[in-house]
Amino acid sequence: MTFFKAMLDFFSRSRNARLSAFFTLLALIGCVTPLLSLRAEPTPSHNLVSLDVVQPPVLPEIRYATRHNFTGEAVYSIPRLWLHKDAACALSRVQHELQKSGLGLKVYDAYRPLSVQQKMWDLIRDERYVSNPAKNKGRHTRGTAVDVTLIDKKGRELPMPSDYDDFTERANRKYQGATSEEKHNRQLLEDVMVRHGFLPFPDEWWHFDLKGWEKYPVFDIPLKSLVRSR
Ligand SMILES: [Zn+2]
Repeated sequence: MTFFKAMLDFFSRSRNARLSAFFTLLALIGCVTPLLSLRAEPTPSHNLVSLDVVQPPVLPEIRYATRHNFTGEAVYSIPRLWLHKDAACALSRVQHELQKSGLGLKVYDAYRPLSVQQKMWDLIRDERYVSNPAKNKGRHTRGTAVDVTLIDKKGRELPMPSDYDDFTERANRKYQGATSEEKHNRQLLEDVMVRHGFLPFPDEWWHFDLKGWEKYPVFDIPLKSLVRSR
């Protein structure tokens, strides 16, 4: 195929296919260059990017956009997730490694507006499970925290010691009452996330913070506004 013909072929593909190829290429080169600096669109000042940019794609299950969460109500206005571009790069590296063994990530939560964080704190008031906004303004509020679990090729969750947002001792990383398979999967998830720059949170096996998270700014941008700012 000539170079000219190859270029014609590239530009005749759908926009989604081109975007997918573009982000896959970025992930392959290890996200050495910040994601958005290569895009034609200007980089939003908040640096929050849609979870869709993570390649290979993760499986979202956004319980906070439904009533199926500990608050009993939909605290997210839309079923979409965003995260800081640095966390998106790290998550792409995790996905690449997991893909080699037929696994991937399901993502429950990422960026959370500060006002939603406050609402959750008012309901739980237990720092093992929800950050106190009065102290550190939260972790998810910076777009550098993710709540994740492992899935197989068919999207089925691997057994873990507890369900997501199980606010009991079963959520703790040191909980030993789980089966050996559950403990193995919990460790597998922790190891791959740590290898690519995340810090495990002791009280919740599903929660990870990007290293240096404290230095990232806190946002209270509503999710709907992020859709418009893309
Ligand atoms: Zn979390």
